[in-house]
Order: sequence, then structure tokens, then C-alpha cells
Amino acid sequence: MNEELEKRIKKVNAKKFGEDLVSWFEQEMRELPWRENRDPYRVWVSEIMLQQTRVDTVIPYYNRFMEQFPSVEALAFAPEEDVLKAWEGLGYYSRARNLQSAVREVHESYQGIVPDNLKEISSLKGVGPYTAGAILSIAYGKPEPAVDGNVMRVMSRILSIDDDIAKPASRKKFETAVRAIIYEENPSYFNQALMELGAIVCTPTSPSCFLCPVQEHCAAFAEGTQHELPVKSKKKAAKTVELLTVIAENNKGKVLISRRPEQGLLANMWEFPSFEKTPGVNAGQQMIEYLQADHEVEATLTDEKWMTQDHIFTHLVWKMQVGRVTVTKEPALTEQIKWVDQTEIEKVAMPVSHRKIANRWKESTEKETEK
Ligand code: SF4
Repeated sequence: MNEELEKRIKKVNAKKFGEDLVSWFEQEMRELPWRENRDPYRVWVSEIMLQQTRVDTVIPYYNRFMEQFPSVEALAFAPEEDVLKAWEGLGYYSRARNLQSAVREVHESYQGIVPDNLKEISSLKGVGPYTAGAILSIAYGKPEPAVDGNVMRVMSRILSIDDDIAKPASRKKFETAVRAIIYEENPSYFNQALMELGAIVCTPTSPSCFLCPVQEHCAAFAEGTQHELPVKSKKKAAKTVELLTVIAENNKGKVLISRRPEQGLLANMWEFPSFEKTPGVNAGQQMIEYLQADHEVEATLTDEKWMTQDHIFTHLVWKMQVGRVTVTKEPALTEQIKWVDQTEIEKVAMPVSHRKIANRWKESTEKETEK
């Protein structure tokens, strides 16, 4: 541990800090479905869902997921398509795929019992230092740090640390700090309380210091620097990609959807055929040529207004221009493409942007039928 950090940690009365934090948590903790018990599988699923996603958004997904896949075995044996469908709308779908492959490993190599030690649990797919620490502490009561962005913010204020929390190397420092002050009598509540404090009291822009249960331990409050911490450098601007997306309909009222590649962004999800637009070339012509070249589909443009749809990922923005075509010669079907009607399209796992397009396609078809 570096000297400066050691000095800062020593200034904190760790025992009293832990007591104040945990007794506040015992009184104030929100009732959340994953807090019903300490089943490590339930804790694991909740921690994966909560990455990059707000608690309010996660709750209904979590409840449905637990109903559908209530145990390690249920998730291990489920078809991937069902898991992706249950995750639809939550984003960051690699989380769902990694979770299922790790759960399969737990089923095969650990008799269905989630490992209770750092070495084994960290070797599971998608289980990084934060998730490992969260499961070990929350479910098994082990004194392991679970440091996410919330916890780094709180700890940077408590200890007045000005390391850039956007840099991956900073996490180690915060892990060292939490490990040094963790409340050994109840590591589960200690870690949950730090996260809870970050979520509802020590918030990014307006920390409620006057309501804070650990105000007397907080260096930033004492120094009046709570609004200057944490230091967090700005992310690079997201890259914009212009896409053309095709609603290709046949004469039976079905549309063509294709499956995304097995690897990479939104892997294995279904979507309307999409490709990157070539600037300066007629968009409708590009769609017709793309369908012919990539899917052996012959089609003509349907005379119709174009739709647009944007989707923002962390590092990427899709600007989609959506056109409708009528298929005149159908392709030979493969595992990667299929025809679906309005009911069948509901059942496949689609990225949010394509789900919105599907809903708009449905609405416009219904309007056409009413005319
Ligand atoms: Fe955060 Fe203020 Fe509490 Fe310090 S006193 S931990 S800055 S809310």
C-alpha cells in the first residue's frame, strides 16, 4: 500500500465507520427482490443485471427472470434464445450470455453450487473483481471488497482521494482501501451499505452530507471538497454509424429477419437486415442491392415514407434509416434468416432499436388494414 493512502486510511476509525454505516443500512435499506435471501445464485443474477443499469429498471426484469430461471439448473439448461428474450431491453447482452455460460460451468464443475472462494469464482465467465467481491461478501459473508463506480465515488470522498476513477488502475487503490476498513462483523451489509450510500445519499452531483450517516468520518466533507470529488475524466465521444435497415415483406404479410453474428455487439440477436450506408448513393438502391447480394432476395421498393431510428450505446450511436421493400423472389432459408409474422416477431430476442422498428411496422400495417 502506498504511504499516502495508508495515512488517509489510518485517519478513519474503521470500527466506528463500519458500525455507523451498517446500522444506518439496517434502518434505511430499500426492500429489493434480491435482498429477500442470500442465495448466491440470486445475488449473482442481480449483480450482473445491475451493471450499467438502474435499480428501478432492473426490478421487473429480475422478477421475471427469477420466475423463468429460478435456479442454477434452470438457467444452465435453458435455450440461449430464451435467456436473450428474457434480457431483451436491458442491453449489454453479452452479460446474459456470459452469465449463462458461467452458470453452466457451475452446474458441470461445482455440482451446481456457486463457488465461495475468490480463485474459483473469479475464473467464471463475466465475473470480474466487482461481481466476485459482491457475491462473496453478500451471499457468503466474506470480507472481500466490491468496488464499482458508486463505491469509488463514496470512498474517494471519505478518504479524499483524487485519483481519476475513470482509469482502470484506480480501482485497485479503492479495493485496497475497502479491504483495509471493511467491517469484519458484517461484510455483507458493509458492502451493500456503501453501494446504498452511493445510490441515495452520496450521489454524483448533490451529495446529501447533512443526512449522511458517516459524515463525521468524511475527509471531503471536512475539507469542503465533496463537490470536487471524485475526479473522473470525460469519456471519448461516441462514434456515429449510419445504417440502412430494411423491412422486407413477402405477400403473406411476413417480414425477413436475420440473426447477428455469434461474436461481437448484440451477438445472436435477431434484427431486420441492416448494413452501413455508403454516403452519396441512393439509399433505396443500396437496400435492394444488399438484399440481393447478402440474402439472395429480390425485391422492389415499397412507395412509402422512410422511418428513422437512433440508438445510443456506450461508445457508439446508430443512426438508422429504415425502408420498406416488397420481396419478389424469396431466399432459401438458413439458420441465420427467417420469415416471421406479427405474432412470431414478438417471440424472438431483438435489440431495442429493432424492437421499436418492429412495433412501428406493426402499427403501420394495422393502419393500412383499417383503411
Ligand atoms: Fe458523501 Fe457527504 Fe457523506 Fe462525505 S459526508 S460520504 S461527501 S454524503
